[in-house]
Amino acid sequence: MNIDLLVRCSRELLGLDLSPETQRAFSIYADELLAWNEKFNLTAITAPEEIEMRHFLDSLSVLRAISLKPGLRVIDVGTGAGFPGLPLRLVAPGIELTLLEATAKKTTFLEHIVHRLKLHNVQVVNARAEEAGQDPRHREQYDVALARAVAQMPALSEYLLPLCRVGGKCVALKGESAVAEVRQAETALEILGGRVDRVIPVELPQVAETHYLVVIRKSAATPPAYPRRPGVPTKRPLLNRSHPEA
Ligand code: SAM
Repeated sequence: MNIDLLVRCSRELLGLDLSPETQRAFSIYADELLAWNEKFNLTAITAPEEIEMRHFLDSLSVLRAISLKPGLRVIDVGTGAGFPGLPLRLVAPGIELTLLEATAKKTTFLEHIVHRLKLHNVQVVNARAEEAGQDPRHREQYDVALARAVAQMPALSEYLLPLCRVGGKCVALKGESAVAEVRQAETALEILGGRVDRVIPVELPQVAETHYLVVIRKSAATPPAYPRRPGVPTKRPLLNRSHPEA
């Protein structure tokens, strides 16, 4: 697929010059996504320009919130077909990336694309965030925890904060409901050890609605009871000061 629009917009919006090698990787990623989508239904977005804007550029917009220095440990929770984690890895090859996804057919695609693009330091994990958050191999092991389109902020905070080390950051890519969701998540953040740092609006070319990057700083350790069992964070989000129902 031709990715000229992505190349131009990455430069204009983010000051990013994609090398010929990186451009090739994005092009292969788009082709593989479209090919696999016919069998596996990975994404509803299939128009080439929308893949460039709504998947690739939107993912790269995370660079407005954080700089991805080499060696940084990053986890993308509920990554689906790799968004936002994989595009970020393509422009920041020094990071150590974990792609966490609950659906096995999606992790099969992720393993394929990681192999196809010969990416080092990318780990694909087929698990739920609630399980990973209680697993010592993942709990509080990451400098940055990311997510797009996975859950509302109160439940999402319970997915992301347990994975993040104290002093690290979580970035949630959100739509128009961002500010309202942040307000709803005040109690959850307090319980889980997070503080809202910034909410950054992002305007993307050819995308009508404003997107937001909700940046949360992990200021204290998450109590061991969190995350609760799979399904509980969405079924009983931490909206009020209640005791954990493990
Ligand atoms: N982040 C991708 C994107 O923006 O294109 C995928 C978004 S898709 C709407 C939500 C994904 O999150 C699905 O692939 C789903 O399987 C995954 N997911 C939902 N809840 C999850 C959980 N608790 N743990 C891990 N993955 C989860």
